[in-house]
Amino acid sequence: MLNSYSTNESNLVMTESLDFIFESVQLAILIENTERKIEFVNPLFCNLFQLKYTPQQLINTKVLATANLFSLIFEKSAQFEKTIIEYPENAELVKSEVWKLRNGKTLLRDYLPIYNGNTLNGHIWIYREQKLSTSSFYKENNSALLENALHNIPGEIAIFNLDNQIVFANKAYINSHEKRKWAVGKTLTQYFSYANLSLETAKNRVDNISKVIEHKKAIVWEEVSISPLQQTQYLLRTCHPVFNENGEIESVIEQSIDISEQKNLEFKLKKSTDQFFNTLNSVNDVVIHTDDELKLKFVNKAWQELSGQLAEQYQSKPIFDLLSIKRYDLYAKVFSILAGKQTGHEGEVSILSKEGKEKILKYNLQRSFDVEEDKHGILATLTDITNHKLQETQLLELVKKEKELNELKTAFVNMVSHELRTPLTVISSSAEILELMIQTGKSYEEVCVYTKQIIDEVDKMTSFMQDLLMVSKIEAGKIVVHTSFVDIVQFVQRICDANFNPWKDGRKIEVEVKREPVKASIDQKMLEHALQNIIQNAFKYSSGKANPKLRLSFSKTYFTISVIDNGIGIPKNEMENLFTSFFRATNTSNISGTGIGLIVTKYFTEQHKGYVTVKSIMNKGSIFTLKLPY
Ligand code: ADP
Repeated sequence: MLNSYSTNESNLVMTESLDFIFESVQLAILIENTERKIEFVNPLFCNLFQLKYTPQQLINTKVLATANLFSLIFEKSAQFEKTIIEYPENAELVKSEVWKLRNGKTLLRDYLPIYNGNTLNGHIWIYREQKLSTSSFYKENNSALLENALHNIPGEIAIFNLDNQIVFANKAYINSHEKRKWAVGKTLTQYFSYANLSLETAKNRVDNISKVIEHKKAIVWEEVSISPLQQTQYLLRTCHPVFNENGEIESVIEQSIDISEQKNLEFKLKKSTDQFFNTLNSVNDVVIHTDDELKLKFVNKAWQELSGQLAEQYQSKPIFDLLSIKRYDLYAKVFSILAGKQTGHEGEVSILSKEGKEKILKYNLQRSFDVEEDKHGILATLTDITNHKLQETQLLELVKKEKELNELKTAFVNMVSHELRTPLTVISSSAEILELMIQTGKSYEEVCVYTKQIIDEVDKMTSFMQDLLMVSKIEAGKIVVHTSFVDIVQFVQRICDANFNPWKDGRKIEVEVKREPVKASIDQKMLEHALQNIIQNAFKYSSGKANPKLRLSFSKTYFTISVIDNGIGIPKNEMENLFTSFFRATNTSNISGTGIGLIVTKYFTEQHKGYVTVKSIMNKGSIFTLKLPY
């Protein structure tokens, strides 16, 4: 039987013997003596012929009596029975006889006469199923072809038995025919020392073969060696178990392929990737790359510079952890770019720098594609534009101030020309009339009307000039506070009586005192000026309406002076412009004014650590209140 498996190279013999052991488990055997009684029959035999008897029950029974029982499973049962009778009579070896079964399967049968010397002792019948196993493959005379193929494969192939001995090695594994022959049946360590090769390498391979035998699992590892031409060689070695049909490990195949070329390419690729990442790490902009789940795959060093946080700590964390901003609009954009619904997006975000300062970053989001993983991700760059932004705002502020100044100048020139032109026209025409009157010898009373007009207009101009002077003094910070202890009720009453009671149109201002009056320390000149301005406005902007009122109220820590009128009021949307230089509401039309008075009032009140409040409704009236601490 062994001979039938033998090949040109005797190293296949071991494989065959293994096959035999393996197959023998599957053999149905019957042994009979010369009296043709059953001496031995195994359980597989009973199973194969579907006999209702156990092997024990069959022993000593006559073969010819039972033959008709198991002939039933064969297609040609009569012919079968005939051979049962005839073969033992001839007592000649019959090998691998093919018998077709009724169920479609095929059985192979061997008949072996048992001799003791020249004496016939008995007969053995062996039945086995016909399968296309490794051994049968060899039997088909393919062994030489296969072996040749194994030798010509451009990779090392070796087969080991479970004792770690070489059963087969191809030419790539052991180059010389002599050495190959020597190596069969030896361990790798024995062969390596015989061939004067690295024992360390041998040990490593033997360890791996042992592991495969122990764990019945393949192992893959990389082996580095120096080629005869002194070049580093990289081998990818695989060691895997070979199982028989019962699932038992039968042998181990070790094979290798030279991956030096791939390795060198890998090194080159790694070098250029390293170079690429080094370049990325040296740029000032933050570069971020995520995977398809928006988890960070790469963040360059610029991030650390900017935020003070280690880029590594964000590895595999969501991109939003890194930015830690609650910009849901931005999150939505990121998702839509990742989904390919949008090509890219640019914008600004602000984060806290490592110094805890707000940094403004310009971001650019793009969809990336990972060729290796065949997945999309997000590629983002962040540019620090804080300084740029600061310069921009400073520039904008400068432009705004310049614009305001220009507007102020225009307003000032308009106001001054208007405020001076009107009295000057009156003065000029009055002077002309006066000249005529003097020529025509008019009376003193008649002349006086015009001289008074001239004096009034000059007074107006003087007071206007004084106001202007006051503002410039205020702006230069040249006004010093001189306080004195004063009875506030008397002080207010005196101002009203001296300047307003009565006003030009005959109206008066009523003073109303609430709660117990208190004396206070004030700068009389300043407060008089402040008060005059708001009382004058109350009369000026309520012409034809009821008398304005002045309400004095004293509390524990402060006193208030409110001037109330039923005049034109101030448009709601213009209220915010009150107390700015030269501001005049749009509803003042032909009521003359300079837009200076309220600034002076506010400044003087603030010099007393007080403040001014305004309530006003268009066409209903206004209340200006000075709140002053004692
Ligand atoms: P002006 O000389 O124009 O009165 P002010 O600085 O005193 O300058 O006042 C600024 C503007 O505030 C006025 O032009 C007017 O539009 C508004 N204003 C001030 N007081 C009153 C008031 N009592 N009633 C209506 N508008 C007022």
